[in-house]
Amino acid sequence: MRLSQLFTKTRKEAPKDETALNAQLLIRAGFVHKVMAGVYAYTPLGLRVLENIKRIVREEMNAIGGQELIMSSLQPKETWEITTRWDDDIVDVWFKTKLKDDTELGLAWSHEEAIMEMMKQFVESYKDLPVSVYQFQNKLRNELRAKSGIMRGREFVMKDMYSLHATAEDLDAYYQKVIEAYKRIYDRLGLGDDTYVAFASGGAFTKFSHEFQTVCEAGEDVLYLHRDKNIAVNEEVLDEAVKELGISKDDLEMVKSAEVGNIFNIGSEKSEQMNIRFTGSDGKEHPIYLASYGIGITRVMGVIVEKFADEHGMVWPEGVAPAQIHLVRLGADEEVTKAADDLYTKLAKAGVEVLYDDRDAPAGAKFADADLIGCPVRITISNRTLAEGVVEVKRRTEADSKHVKTGEFLKHYHGQHA
Ligand code: ATP
Ligand code: MG
Repeated sequence: MRLSQLFTKTRKEAPKDETALNAQLLIRAGFVHKVMAGVYAYTPLGLRVLENIKRIVREEMNAIGGQELIMSSLQPKETWEITTRWDDDIVDVWFKTKLKDDTELGLAWSHEEAIMEMMKQFVESYKDLPVSVYQFQNKLRNELRAKSGIMRGREFVMKDMYSLHATAEDLDAYYQKVIEAYKRIYDRLGLGDDTYVAFASGGAFTKFSHEFQTVCEAGEDVLYLHRDKNIAVNEEVLDEAVKELGISKDDLEMVKSAEVGNIFNIGSEKSEQMNIRFTGSDGKEHPIYLASYGIGITRVMGVIVEKFADEHGMVWPEGVAPAQIHLVRLGADEEVTKAADDLYTKLAKAGVEVLYDDRDAPAGAKFADADLIGCPVRITISNRTLAEGVVEVKRRTEADSKHVKTGEFLKHYHGQHA
């Protein structure tokens, strides 16, 4: 991607009304465009990050048998009335609208009921279970506050998975598998060290559900950590959890955190409410056991910005960066232009994603933009490096740069992607 052709431009200032660091940096660097409070568009650089996060999540969901689909945003009221979740006193984030003939519709904020309604047509016998489906979908929620940038949107991208099982035991086994898959996801996203599986309120069978909480100053949650025992508890259930888990409050450390994922054992309740059953091997009708598993894709992106940014800008972990290399060309004479173009083409051929700063701008401005945008490696080509047959390599996380012979540098990337 050539920066000279990218329609977004870096900016010195973020909008005055934007108080969240993640959104300020993402807007200044041209990753997102603020449409209104809690609503953001993802421009090409931001979309690349989102797609990288999704790719990691998708690979892990596929690895545990998830089948990808996309449900609809428009939801019929009837589906949600059966379980009482149409009621605004029960679900307070609905956006509702109407057809021209006054038929009421809701804009999907989650999809448990919709999945069950659909699965009614496909799950007839025990042979059709278990089944696990997931999607990446824009959820719409009428959130009261939207001051955390992309960490809390009124429209945001969620990965939601739903698994349906013939028995509670089968669900439990799969639930554990999802926990392991989630751990791999947060590791690959660069958040593994600071992400905890936390006890939270609202479990169906046990008292608790599980949240994946990342320690983060900008998070909206408060987490209590027992570092020795590797136990994390959401503030909401602290007293109950302390009792249940036999731990002492004095051993807990309070930290701010962001909920980056949530898994929920719903059990057979939804199936019973909606009267959706399958025929067991005994020939009798049984309720279906359901669990749901969310990951806030756009929230994760915001958390990554918040956690790793420094005073110069964003710092993307390799797996999610908009490009692996930020190639800076200094000067615009024929020789340096040709050399930089050539390197860009060779890297692209080797399958390496490169942001190529081929603009005519001062060195200081180019370096400042490279820092703001935050790709893992910055490569500089100038008449000076050309004369020495080297490229200047600087990692975003390091202060110093080094010179590497151009041939060796290319060999490294060829080797990696061959
Ligand atoms: P929160 O307590 O933060 O409102 P929630 O309990 O409502 O979250 P879920 O309904 O479980 O969240 O949604 C699954 C995941 O989607 C959450 O773990 C979170 O990562 C993400 N998420 C929820 N609400 C938002 C939002 N408004 N903007 C961005 N991500 C969100
Ligand atoms: Mg919520």
